[in-house]
Amino acid sequence: MEAVLILNGLNCPDCAEKIRRRAQNVDGVKAAEMNFMSKELRLILESESQKENAIEEVKKIVSDIEPDVEVLLDSANTEEEFDKNSFKMEIAKLFAAFSFFLAGVLIPMPFWWEFSFLILAYFLSGWEVLVRAIKNILKGEIFDENFLMALATIGAFAIKEFPEAAAVMIFYQAGELFQDYAVNRSRKSIAKLMDIRPDSANLKTSDGIKAVSPDKVAIGDIIIVKPGEKIPLDGVVENGSSLLDTSAMTGESVPRAAKAGDEVISGCISLDGALEIRVTKPFGESAVSKILELVQRAGEKKSRPERFITRFARVYTPIVVIAAALLAFVPPLAFGLELRDWVYRALSFLVVSCPCALVISIPLSFFGGIGGASSKGILVKGGISLEALSKCKAVAFDKTGTLTKGVFEVDGIYPQKISKDELLKFAAAAESFSNHPIAVSIKRAAGIDDFSGRGISAREIAGKGVEAGFDGHRILAGNKALMLENGITPSDAEGTVVHVALDGEYAGYISLSDTLRSDAAQAVKKLKAAGVEKVFMLTGDGTENAKKVASAVGIDAFYANLLPHEKVEKVEEILSGLKDGEKLAFAGDGINDAPVLARADIGIAMGGLGSDAAIEAADVVLMTDEPSKIADGIRISKKTIRIVKQNIVFAISIKILVLILAAFGLAPMWLAVFADVGVAFLAILNALRAIRA
Ligand code: ADP
Ligand code: MG
Repeated sequence: MEAVLILNGLNCPDCAEKIRRRAQNVDGVKAAEMNFMSKELRLILESESQKENAIEEVKKIVSDIEPDVEVLLDSANTEEEFDKNSFKMEIAKLFAAFSFFLAGVLIPMPFWWEFSFLILAYFLSGWEVLVRAIKNILKGEIFDENFLMALATIGAFAIKEFPEAAAVMIFYQAGELFQDYAVNRSRKSIAKLMDIRPDSANLKTSDGIKAVSPDKVAIGDIIIVKPGEKIPLDGVVENGSSLLDTSAMTGESVPRAAKAGDEVISGCISLDGALEIRVTKPFGESAVSKILELVQRAGEKKSRPERFITRFARVYTPIVVIAAALLAFVPPLAFGLELRDWVYRALSFLVVSCPCALVISIPLSFFGGIGGASSKGILVKGGISLEALSKCKAVAFDKTGTLTKGVFEVDGIYPQKISKDELLKFAAAAESFSNHPIAVSIKRAAGIDDFSGRGISAREIAGKGVEAGFDGHRILAGNKALMLENGITPSDAEGTVVHVALDGEYAGYISLSDTLRSDAAQAVKKLKAAGVEKVFMLTGDGTENAKKVASAVGIDAFYANLLPHEKVEKVEEILSGLKDGEKLAFAGDGINDAPVLARADIGIAMGGLGSDAAIEAADVVLMTDEPSKIADGIRISKKTIRIVKQNIVFAISIKILVLILAAFGLAPMWLAVFADVGVAFLAILNALRAIRA
């Protein structure tokens, strides 16, 4: 049971975390996950009946912590984003405040006049900060940034630093404004990368074409996609032909042709023709929905740096505030030094005590990296996976379907005693329920794809083949091992072959050929260039085939004849050979390797060919099925982590530097403000680089 709330106008990650923590304690809520980038709060509920109550409670919490945030239940109308008018209003207000400030400081005038100008500038820019600070004190949230700024500036007034107080408030508010602006800009550019959600579908009905919401379309309905429109649901083309721009879904820039009979996926854009499409999947299960779901959940799995920052923020602020209190009063009381001077130094402490720069820039960098990767057809399921990818030192590939296309062609049928057609028919019947690429190609060659109602019972023996009952016969179809363990001696044909036995007697074999993916060799080369030290291949296929592929592609070491559980054991063996902190990625299509995908540090699934189970189990999904994209993913992850580290080091060292300078009386308050909002702004700009993968 889940409920998803959209928190419109949520711009402070610190508050987002506070909201999440309190939402988690609401009755009936098992867990709360916050995605700051998509502004979604996901509540995992104990039961449906508690949903309304829990939502009401959470709404109260939100209005408590962030009164300006609007809580929505539907993601459809979150277009608001950044309100241009209120942004202009804020700018105008700050400009007016700054003019009063300049007038007060530059024009010679009697003290009370000057004071009035500065007070005016102060309230004009800082009124909201003061109001929010008071509200928060009433609620017991002491270390809130509004309160800290209010305290610092009021303190400045108290020690008669009037121009300082006004300037600090104006500077702070300007910084906040630009921070909001930058966060919104980056959110927008990330959202644009993932703008694949279709708005409506043109449904063909008995009385003409009607535009309806995609989730209202049923399986079997006919929809029309005009040139330039996005395909809203997965389906099969009934009529028409067109070039499809699949880049939003796969990152592939070359358009693909689609004609009657072809399968098409939602999210692609029909470029030059109109298509009539028979819908084969409801909207919730269409490609677009699945990808959106993956991407939206990505922000919820927090990486180590993200968790570190949340913890850091919680201790940093109280420590600095306590240090400020000690700094203000201990030297004057203990050594009789001038109180005013030390209070001033302490005020600078208060200004830098907010951890905003980090808290905001780190999730933003991760999200940028994930967004940039997805624009290249590499879906990374969260910060944890992106971080792991950056430490990837070994990659193991599955062979069939991963390094090879997994589209076999039957190139020879060698029966014994029965006819070629019969052998193919028995093999196809035995494979009727299998999704293995070999099975698919045999069924295609036999020209039969629907075996329902023929009384077939079949069982898949993973990594070996199938056993089936059909037409009163017991059929075995599979590799040498399968034959041998059933006491049957197969022919010693080479290459990829499927041996068939009828009622315990050898009936011949079918030979197949698979082709290497065109970028398989390049994939290995690029991995090495990206810092991967060892590349392995694990396959259930025989040694001869494995050797051929391994040497063509440039694999360091390969292991053949592996059953699915042996692949897991091999992966564990490779893992134990890695140094601490080094990660192993396994790339597979999910057929006979879903358990390995889950076991490796980073499971990488082929999105186009891969099974749903594989895509589910994987940490990274390659939409174009190109293994060479793994190296791109590693490159993007390294860049993102580099940016994250830069931001952490930059922000923390500037803050510490300013704290030290302030303690010695060398940091004026305006410098402290720079260390706070200025650093945040620069860190956000730096984070934006992660998007441009
Ligand atoms: P890979 O690890 O290279 O992807 P698999 O583990 O999927 O290979 O399969 C290993 C071998 O088992 C195949 O090369 C094939 O000989 C045999 N096999 C597996 N499933 C089937 C099937 N459904 N029909 C025939 N042979 C099969
Ligand atoms: Mg495979």
